[in-house]
Amino acid sequence: MTAQDTMQNNTSKASSTDYDVVVIGAGFSGLGLLHYLKQQDLSVRVFDKADNIGGTWTWNRYPGARGDSETYYYCFTFSQELLQEWSWSERYPAWGEILEYLHFLADRCNLMPDIQLETTIESAIYDNESGRWIVRTSSGDTYTCKYFVSAMGLISEPYIPEIKGLESFAGPCFHSARWPKEGLDYSGKRVGIIGAGATAVQLVPSMAPDAESVTLFQRTPNYILPARQRKMTPEWEKEIKSNYPEIINKCRNHVFGMPFDSPVDRVAADSTEEEQNAIYQKLWEEGGFRFCFESYDDLLENLDANETAANFLRHKITELVDDPETAEMLTPRGYPLFAKRPPLDHGYYEAFNRDNVHLVDIAKTEPIVEVTETGVLTEKQLYEFDIIILATGFDALTGALEHMEIRGASGETLKEKWRAGPSTFMGVCSSGFPNLFMITGPQAPFANLPTTIEENIKWISACIKHMESQNYASMDVSESAEKQWGDHAAEVIDLTVMKYGHEANSWFVGSNIPGKGPSTLVYFGGANNYFDKLQESLEKKFPELNFTATI
Ligand code: NAP
Repeated sequence: MTAQDTMQNNTSKASSTDYDVVVIGAGFSGLGLLHYLKQQDLSVRVFDKADNIGGTWTWNRYPGARGDSETYYYCFTFSQELLQEWSWSERYPAWGEILEYLHFLADRCNLMPDIQLETTIESAIYDNESGRWIVRTSSGDTYTCKYFVSAMGLISEPYIPEIKGLESFAGPCFHSARWPKEGLDYSGKRVGIIGAGATAVQLVPSMAPDAESVTLFQRTPNYILPARQRKMTPEWEKEIKSNYPEIINKCRNHVFGMPFDSPVDRVAADSTEEEQNAIYQKLWEEGGFRFCFESYDDLLENLDANETAANFLRHKITELVDDPETAEMLTPRGYPLFAKRPPLDHGYYEAFNRDNVHLVDIAKTEPIVEVTETGVLTEKQLYEFDIIILATGFDALTGALEHMEIRGASGETLKEKWRAGPSTFMGVCSSGFPNLFMITGPQAPFANLPTTIEENIKWISACIKHMESQNYASMDVSESAEKQWGDHAAEVIDLTVMKYGHEANSWFVGSNIPGKGPSTLVYFGGANNYFDKLQESLEKKFPELNFTATI
């Protein structure tokens, strides 16, 4: 079927309703954009296939699921009033509390009337003649809109590897991002977890106390940082709330969008080993990502500097895990710290000291042969389970966008255009797809997400405002601006340790999906620099975009 056929098919079925803006996704991105667009006189419809708002936090409801950014900067900053009113209970937010926060936001900003849940969008096709996007749902309804925005999130398309026999398992077997909504009673059950990334690092210690056993099938061990969860106290909350302007300013000016103090010009080689260890120990005790961002300025660029931190972390595993063989299996080697996104630990290593937690090395000693009706068969033995969880990650950044049929002005889909890897202008738009915007699309930075999302939203809503005020029909980013951005993004990743992501199957470069990477999926030139460039583009009235006037 050609694009034209699809379109005719769509329009002939139409129970058509027109909106100025259609947004896909009611997580942080969709909700934030809706709020910003409501300040303009626009009709906006937000669709989400889930039965709740919350995006990733609606889908990832597995035991132990919580944010790795600290609560006080894992939120929107557009309203001081809301920042002052909302109270977080812990340092790192559990998924349920994030959903409560997003509902609070949706209620206070009156967002719900413009959101349509349980609606899957299958395609969005640009019609050159009308200059409208035609958006089609899985039930055949179509909607037309001037602007189409993906707020689908960068880590939202679950990846299920091809493992022989997976469908033959008799018990519950599902991806971690599809945890049964009605809950799952795993007490006294034998649980197998395949995959050992950030999700598994949260699952293992959360499930181990109640399950009969938890067996983790690990291919590549991670560098894991301690989280150091703690309760919010009235004193801490008061301090945060009286410092919000400074916290927001720090996030906006930090390479990863976090309110941390950069160790400007402090490089690892300037310190003795003893001094290095003292710095690492202090940050290790403090917990979270400060270990990477407040220790040495060259940690994510210089392999020798990186190795000093990696060694510190490797040594910690031997202190935390009693059994030396298990400790060795959990020890990452052969790739630098931060070539993969480091998970935060809420008792992961200690969990391996329990009698009912087992680690299976499927890379070196016993690869998985198949999943059977009763469990997982490796080259050495059959492990019998009642439940199997696939914590196997996501087709990040491009997955959700390519899964949907999104056709631009030439009839080509995003997937077709991105055959050799994605190309975008700063992750917010892509040439040949007029009036399409993406929030944290490919080649945007990976940083504290609410910060990046809000900066993307400011640019997108300002662009729409500009177009409406100038009576523009459409915008398309110039191919040269897009190429310049892609080249720059490729250049800067080459200056960082993230380029070694392909050696560690990292989603940063798409190498976690067979046949996908490596390619430049993420901008690692500093979120702060990226925000500055977006701001400059906005202030200069979007010189990278070609606008068409309404006739
Ligand atoms: P992930 O980090 O990509 O880990 C996926 C795991 O599945 C890896 O251990 C991988 O092994 C394994 N795997 C993939 N294919 C496999 C196969 N065929 N056989 C066996 N194992 C296989 O995924 P994730 O843990 O879901 O996390 C993804 C991202 O989501 C994180 O990096 C983070 O950004 C985000 N996340 C955030 C939070 C939070 O904020 N708290 C929590 C969870 C996730 P290899 O490493 O060998 O490929």
